[in-house]
Amino acid sequence: MAIKLPGLIDVHVHLREPGATHKEDFSSGTAAALAGGVTTVLAMPNTQPPLVDAAAFQMALDAAEQKARCDYGIFLGANLNNAAELPALATQSAGLKFYLDATFGPLLLDDIGAWREHFEHWPRHMPIVAHAEMQTLAALLFVAGLYERPVHIAHVSRKEEIRLIRTAKEKGQLVTCEVAPHHLFLSTDDLPAPNGRGAGGEGRMSVRPRLATPTDQQALWDNLDVIDCFATDHAPHTLEEKDSETPPPGFPGLETALPLLLTAVHAGRLTLDDIVARMHINPRRIFNLPEQPETWVEIDPAAEYEIRAANHFTRCAWTPYEGWPVRGRVRRVVLRGQEVFKDGKILAKPGYGINVRMA
Ligand SMILES: [Zn+2]
Repeated sequence: MAIKLPGLIDVHVHLREPGATHKEDFSSGTAAALAGGVTTVLAMPNTQPPLVDAAAFQMALDAAEQKARCDYGIFLGANLNNAAELPALATQSAGLKFYLDATFGPLLLDDIGAWREHFEHWPRHMPIVAHAEMQTLAALLFVAGLYERPVHIAHVSRKEEIRLIRTAKEKGQLVTCEVAPHHLFLSTDDLPAPNGRGAGGEGRMSVRPRLATPTDQQALWDNLDVIDCFATDHAPHTLEEKDSETPPPGFPGLETALPLLLTAVHAGRLTLDDIVARMHINPRRIFNLPEQPETWVEIDPAAEYEIRAANHFTRCAWTPYEGWPVRGRVRRVVLRGQEVFKDGKILAKPGYGINVRMA
């Protein structure tokens, strides 16, 4: 028996183009999206070069226009000296990304004066997304509050962070947030033994923000009502890179998010409505995304199988969930009236996807 869901929206993916297309590109990344029931992706700007000016942003827009198989938006990256330049590009972008804590790439915005400049320049109606952990999150909420600007907090992973966001919301602050499936389904208990952190001790399980403690993980489940979106933070690196002396942080996630969440529905931890709210309704509202007419995802909620990277379309060719038993499979995806995925086959051609800001 099939169940129909609306086309899912993943507001946080890294498609690695331009600059690292051996890991992923707009074609392979959006194929992975469709296979996961995702019909819109919002792509992050920490590419090579990073999307911090008109020239780099145009490179990404051109590549996506030619290669994307599902609909997409592309973020601009804030740096220390582009606050005045970015507003001219704002309406073509998914929004502005602030990297306020250490991550993959060179976009760290570690000067509070630059935060103020970006809040002063960036158009009020366009989204701002921040990677901000712990005390940095507190500082960002304070500055955003001074400017009365809505901010969306990326990949919240810790108990103190979700509690801070709960309190900020209760006080009326314009803040929304997302949680990544890997922080719901993995914790420090899943790190390779011994649980040595740093210096490569995490191996393949290296990710930013790091996998948190089981207490943090439970706090996310206990505060589901505060979580506006589930977003994968799909961040592919090849297995060779992940198994190197200095594994880069990040997991692929587009093809495993829905099966993991549907398995949680089967276990009674979530409802289908919880998923639809966090992967369709809220992302559309927060990021002001257009409706996709004649678009839906057909799932078989009873299908039982094991996750295998060999069946995935992401170029990175591995998953942290290899062999996990799951329940719930994407059967068919229809995007704007066209069948784009069916029974394990991608039917959308590169270039079928459209920019959500051009719609
Ligand atoms: Zn990310």
